[in-house]
Parts: sequence; structure tokens; C-alpha cells
Amino acid sequence: MLSEFILTEEQKAIKDAAREFAEKEFPKYAEECDREEKFPFELWKKAAELGFIGMNFPEEYGGQGAGILDSCLVVEEFWRVDGGLGQILSSPFGSEQILMFGTEEQKKKYLPPLAKGKAICCACYTEPQAGSDVAGIKARADKVGDEYVINGTKMFITNGTIADYYIVLARTDPNPAKRHHGMSVFIVEKGTPGLEAKKLHNKLGIRASDTAEVVFKNVRVPKENLIGQEGQGFYQTMLFFNVTRIPVAFQAVGLAQGAFELAFNYAKNRELFEQKLIDFQVTQDKLAKMRVKLEAARLLAYQAAYFQDKMGMPDPGLTAMAKYYCAHAANEIVNEALQIHGGYGYMGEQAISRMYRDVRILEIYEGTREVELEIIARSLMGKVPSKLSLIRKHPLM
Ligand SMILES: Cc1cc2nc3c(=O)[nH]c(=O)nc-3n(C[C@H](O)[C@H](O)[C@H](O)COP(=O)(O)OP(=O)(O)OC[C@H]3O[C@@H](n4cnc5c(N)ncnc54)[C@H](O)[C@@H]3O)c2cc1C
Repeated sequence: MLSEFILTEEQKAIKDAAREFAEKEFPKYAEECDREEKFPFELWKKAAELGFIGMNFPEEYGGQGAGILDSCLVVEEFWRVDGGLGQILSSPFGSEQILMFGTEEQKKKYLPPLAKGKAICCACYTEPQAGSDVAGIKARADKVGDEYVINGTKMFITNGTIADYYIVLARTDPNPAKRHHGMSVFIVEKGTPGLEAKKLHNKLGIRASDTAEVVFKNVRVPKENLIGQEGQGFYQTMLFFNVTRIPVAFQAVGLAQGAFELAFNYAKNRELFEQKLIDFQVTQDKLAKMRVKLEAARLLAYQAAYFQDKMGMPDPGLTAMAKYYCAHAANEIVNEALQIHGGYGYMGEQAISRMYRDVRILEIYEGTREVELEIIARSLMGKVPSKLSLIRKHPLM
């Protein structure tokens, strides 16, 4: 397998430890948390104590100073066993804004509790009328004296009802020259008056993960809670997604790997027409094609993470390509894996049924399949800095 050639001994040990943890602990929670839409706080604390959460934070902020590839290997192994649990135990979504653009005080205050399993974070960008179109947000943060007053509604926010810290994108300039200008990012702490969250139920998949509508009604935060520069929020957020799309590619690879293994084992054991399912040529063809897609996806994901570790910044075109391809391949692989299980896959009693529901989100959140294609095309044409650019030289080429 590819990983055996390119991973260091230390990275293999991280992968093995994550696999051991997921295989031992996840089966105790996966089915119940999916059915009851329940966040397993006990499991999350255990994972944090073992250093699996926020491991890419520098040591002075509670992490282990691990690379992106290192932390993504954990994501891959967790998602191999269960997507819903893997999602909640991934690196704290939103923390990247603090890591990349926060002040020293913000990093010292907010990052260690996230890595130690003492606080949960969420990132509030999407609004009812603005998902892919981030520049279409209406939430406002008006400066009044030494404070900002935030008003607006955010939609589909992961960890929205259980978060301690809310990273919020809002308009600080109501009349910008361009619609993506004049936005800024803030930290709002749980319990701030005017902050309300309502859990959204009946998601198709990743049901252990909390999803909420979050409303800000005259929420006042001190000016020290501004992350980065006023007016730069849109650009910061685009950089944020370039980073966070890499773990999503690994979520896809992990889930596809898990589904592939389930299908392979099922085909080896299922008897029909007086032979094993795996002995049919058509089954072998299916498994062979699934395997090719899986390994190609893994290579792209590893390449995107490796590039970021080496260059200290992600390549937006490569990141979008990894997220696009891995998510799409995972959907195709999981679909075939369920097919191999026949009616037993459809009836919902097997892990493969849950994977079939979980996999769909990967082509929707953190940039839909269509948005990723647009970024890839723009990077080809040199409109986004990327090694993929075919038009003009750029430092990333
Ligand atoms: C379970 C879950 C968790 C989420 N977690 C978070 C979170 O923590 N924080 C957060 O801020 N958001 C979160 N989201 C929101 C998610 O990022 C958005 O749903 C996603 O960006 C798509 O936005 P939308 O749903 O408004 O769809 P739309 O943007 O309305 O898209 C609808 C369709 O139009 C297509 N489309 C859009 N633009 C174009 C274009 N230019 N060209 C062609 N086609 C286009 C899309 O690809 C899609 O197929 C989450 C969503 C879900 C479902």
C-alpha cells in the first residue's frame, strides 16, 4: 500500500494508534449516536486525553506540533470505522482561523482548551440565503465604542448547540465597494447574551455530529475578539477553507477504505448459486475498480497534505482537486459497497448502510462538488495561485 512507502515510521505509528483507538472504542458508540443523534462527550474527552484532537496545534498552545499529514492520518483512520464519530473527533473546525490569524493572546486563551477536550468550537459562515456564495452573507457586526454588536442568522453550524467558542463571519462595512469586501471574523463565547442555537434534527448522515441554526441578536463582543484584520474576513475565510478541505479529502479516503473492506469481506463470505460472491467475475471487477479509485484518491489527499507541510501553506488548486476527487470517489465506492451487500446493506442493520448515508455530506460541506470544480478551473487559468496553473508563472508553480 502507498502509505507503507511514503509515511515515516512515526506517521505509521500515529496511523496504527488511531486505528486501534477507533476499532476499540467506536463500536461502543456508533450505532446509538447515529440513531439518537447524540454527541458522545465521553469518547471525545478520551480522544482528547490521548492527544488525537488539535495535535497539529503548536506545543505552546496545547497541541503536539504535528504536521497536517500526521493529523489527517488520524482523520482517515477514524472515518474508516465511522463517519459520524470521525467527524466530531476531527481537528476543531474553526480553530484554524485562530491558528492562522489570531493574536498571541487569542491563541493562548482559546487553543489549549480545544486540544485538551475542555472546550468545543464551531465556525459560523453559512446563512439561510448564502452557502456557496459566501459573499452573500447578511450578518452584521457594527462597531459601537470599544465593542462590536453582531446581528444575523447562521445555518447548518456543526457543534452549534454545544460549542464554547463561536467563530463568526460578519459584515463590518455595510456598503462595501465589492460584495466580498468589508467582512470580518470574530470569536463569540458561549453564554454571551443574545446568542441562541437550535439543534436541527433528521440529518441524512453524520448524525452523531451536532448541527444547528445559530442566531445572534445584538450580541456584544469586545474589540479584542476580532480575529485578524477588520475587512479581511472574506480572504481569511477562503484561506481557512483551503486548509480545512484537506482533512475532508482524508475523511473521504477513510470512509471509502472502510466501505471497501466491508464489501470485500462480505463478498468472501456470502454464498449464492452454490459459490462465494467473490468468485463471480463481476464482483472481482467491481472490487478492482473500487480499489483503483481508492488508491488514486489516497494519493491525491496525501499529496495535498504533504504539500502544505512542505510549503507551510496549502495549494488551493491541489486542495480543491483532492477534496473534489476523494469525495466523489468515496461516493462511488460506498455505493458499490452497498450494492455488494444486496438487501442486507439496504435494510440499515449493517455499518455499510450508515456509511451510505454519511458519505453524501462530503460533496456538500466545505465547498460543494461544483464549487471545487470552479476552483480547479480557476487555478488552471492562473486566477487562483496553484501548481496546477497552466497560464502564468506563480510562486506556487
Ligand atoms: C451537515 C452539515 C454541516 C455543515 N457545517 C457547517 C459549519 O460548521 N459551518 C458553516 O458555516 N456551514 C456549514 N455547513 C454548510 C455547508 O457548507 C453548505 O451547505 C454548503 O456550502 C452549500 O451551501 P448551501 O447549502 O447554501 O447550497 P447552495 O450554495 O445554495 O448550493 C445549491 C446547489 O447549487 C450549486 N451551486 C452553487 N454555486 C454554484 C455555482 N457558482 N455554479 C454552479 N453551481 C453552483 C451547489 O453546488 C449546489 O449543488 C454544513 C452543512 C451541512 C449539511
